[in-house]
Amino acid sequence: MIIAAELLEQVVAHARLEAPNECCGLVALEAGRAISVYELENLAASPLRFEVDGAKLAPLLFEIEEAGQQAAIYHSHTHSEPYPSQTDVNFARWWPGCEWLIIGLENDGQPLARSFMISADGVIEELAVEIDG
Ligand SMILES: [Zn+2]
Repeated sequence: MIIAAELLEQVVAHARLEAPNECCGLVALEAGRAISVYELENLAASPLRFEVDGAKLAPLLFEIEEAGQQAAIYHSHTHSEPYPSQTDVNFARWWPGCEWLIIGLENDGQPLARSFMISADGVIEELAVEIDG
């Protein structure tokens, strides 16, 4: 995805706020470019996984799709590489075709943002994250 520095900064700020627990939310994309960030609550309040409230997620997804945009999911890894964990791969089954943006906070001061597509059968493909501005 292409993401403006200030939008990525919002995601990183959310990750820092929730640390050591994982944060989560959605990024709405238009033709591969991030246009808005929706912060969600991690119901699991865990440093190892995240869980979203389906009742909050469903209307948000509907809104994003109605606007002709695509939803990407984001979350943070506070103590590991920003690479999909087995938990993420398992969860990705429910999100076919969805881009996964992962923020790694491990090397503090210089957070890493990486993005992936995870197929239903667990194949991970890395996508570029291009920071704009
Ligand atoms: Zn994860």
